[in-house]
Amino acid sequence: MFAMAAKRLGYRVEAITDAADCPAAHHADRVHVVEFTDEAAIARIASGLAAVTFEFENVPIEAARALAAVVPCRPNPEVLFTTQDRARERAFLMHNGFPCTPHRVVRSREEVVAAVADLGLPAVLKTAAFGYDGKGQRRLDSIAAVNAAWDELGPAPCVLEGWVDFECEVSVVAARDATGAVAVFEPSRNVHSRHILDLSSAPAGLPGRVLDEARSLTARLLEALGVVGVACVEFFVTRSGTMLVNEIAPRPHNSGHLTIEACETSQFEQQVRALCGLPLGSVRQLAPAAMANLLGECWAGGEPDWQAALAVPGVSLLLYGKSEPRPGRKMGHLTALAPTIEEAIVNVTRARALACRTP
Ligand code: AMP
Repeated sequence: MFAMAAKRLGYRVEAITDAADCPAAHHADRVHVVEFTDEAAIARIASGLAAVTFEFENVPIEAARALAAVVPCRPNPEVLFTTQDRARERAFLMHNGFPCTPHRVVRSREEVVAAVADLGLPAVLKTAAFGYDGKGQRRLDSIAAVNAAWDELGPAPCVLEGWVDFECEVSVVAARDATGAVAVFEPSRNVHSRHILDLSSAPAGLPGRVLDEARSLTARLLEALGVVGVACVEFFVTRSGTMLVNEIAPRPHNSGHLTIEACETSQFEQQVRALCGLPLGSVRQLAPAAMANLLGECWAGGEPDWQAALAVPGVSLLLYGKSEPRPGRKMGHLTALAPTIEEAIVNVTRARALACRTP
């Protein structure tokens, strides 16, 4: 999606990847397949480029630093370093006074037990590094569950979080350019299923006070992190209307995919602009929008029925070109624009049910 936006603005795009059939390969002018541990090769490739950005935050930090030594990298690798690890990310949030979920960093079974005694149950044990889409997470409902969870996720450092009985989840995508100007998209309301984002909708239908707080925390967070580029902040909105930061993603985010159809400038074009030193675009949203993810399960009965899905008014389809539809794998998404947010949600949900042939 970044490559598509960059090409539209006339740039040549090269993908540096460890998998030749990655989605970007379908849109890039050139694809370099390298091991991310091969810093010398990465630096050699980068020396032929004008600027580099990242598609996901789990690029090994040594590789990111090798890139930054030869070419402007946005965001800068130290932003990845902070956000790659939940323990470091939490330390950054606490140090800068941002509200986050109650948590403890734990490095042994005994520390998990002590943290559970401290924070109470239920709780969630999460690996500090390399977790995404619910991978590396276990909910703990009893002290007896600690052993199994630690056997699975330890002995690597983990974060134990108290369970937040939230009202809803919202995320805010924003961009910051090299001059420090920030453009914040409309917050979206997110619904997860099995820890994976299922549906995003904007506007989020929350009181203006809550949305303003989400926008302002996001802008301050991008500044504190020193991000140049697009980032997303995921929040839990508690029942009393306060915001807790759950996670920071220093890149365009799944919950911002609806900006492609719904906004004057998409999150991907915004990333291109921030990377290339162009002014940030308008984030004005043109219509209420809802986005539904298409996971590999949708292919269980063969190719989904796109004919039926695309007959639903205001619905568009974006497929990522991934070859193998594995369960839980994000293969694409549907977006619906409609005169009201309720209609957008109904339409995108119906389009997905028709495509995936579920009742
Ligand atoms: P994460 O990978 O940390 O964003 O977690 C994925 C999803 O799991 C979140 O979006 C929530 O829906 C749920 N979740 C994670 N941590 C907590 C928590 N401490 N309390 C309640 N729900 C959580």
